[in-house]
Amino acid sequence: MKADDLLHPTRKGLYCPPGDFYIDPVGKVDRALVTHGHADHARPGNRAVMATRETLDIMAIRYGEDFCETRQVAELGKTTTIGDVTVSFHPAGHVYGSAQIAVEWKGMRIVASGDYKRRRDPTCAAFEPVKCDVFITEATFALPVFRHPDTAAEVEKLLVSMRRFPERAHIVGAYALGKAQRVIRHVREAGYDKPIYIHGALKKLCDFYQHEGIELGELRPATIETGKKGDFAGALIVGTPSAFADKWARRFPDPVASFASGWMRVRQRARQRGVELPLILSDHSDWDELTQTIKDVEAEEVWVTHGREEALVRWCELQGVAARPLHLVGYEDEAE
Ligand SMILES: [Zn+2]
Repeated sequence: MKADDLLHPTRKGLYCPPGDFYIDPVGKVDRALVTHGHADHARPGNRAVMATRETLDIMAIRYGEDFCETRQVAELGKTTTIGDVTVSFHPAGHVYGSAQIAVEWKGMRIVASGDYKRRRDPTCAAFEPVKCDVFITEATFALPVFRHPDTAAEVEKLLVSMRRFPERAHIVGAYALGKAQRVIRHVREAGYDKPIYIHGALKKLCDFYQHEGIELGELRPATIETGKKGDFAGALIVGTPSAFADKWARRFPDPVASFASGWMRVRQRARQRGVELPLILSDHSDWDELTQTIKDVEAEEVWVTHGREEALVRWCELQGVAARPLHLVGYEDEAE
């Protein structure tokens, strides 16, 4: 039996013939298993969806309650049978509710990890390595030059700048699901207890996180219409990447443009976005996390997808681990 018989890439995403389901399908399918709520992995319009309770809630918030016909909650660590296949979900450490999906059939286990990271995130459960025969890994930052710096030091850069420029508004661009809440939570952990202002597009998800017990402190709408421009002097404002690029961000008093992303490691990207204060804060694994994880799961074979596949495939081969790129389409690095 080949691993491809259990799971293989198709135009609609990773397909499992003996279970007749897709993982994170990019096209509409009858049965989808979804790793996490980012828009490139969780799409509306599938008939049946299985995901963690948190991811199902996030999909309902983003797409409406009718995002699918039937929902099935995947409890972490519990096995379920679908067709001839046993599936189980395990924490991925990427965003709230994110999971890796393990599929087993005839003694072979493949783990589709979705997006994942290994470093601490106070807004979600930590990644758990699952031993497997084939490990499917993301490759967003799969080059040795990508080594994410210490998180606390990045957050401190923001706080230092706020102390240095108390009359300026600090506007942090961050993706709406995961990154925005993580930035806010890290800032709270560092002792910042004033209200934090958020763009309207972040409200529903921030409310959801708070409701789930992830304490984000006092959040207020960053609506300039209701206040005078000067009201935001010295304020910390968090907005989505699209709002950040928009005129919205320039309405605030003498703003310090900041952006929280793994891509801020690349100076040119920061410059292109007009970012004055880049914060290198990623929800994806860096090179060391990727290679450590491949060692941890002890897979005989590694499939590499969405990102810089070649370098990681080459690294695996040098370690004596069979590896190949999957060439799945439709997954962007937008969420970074
Ligand atoms: Zn993601």
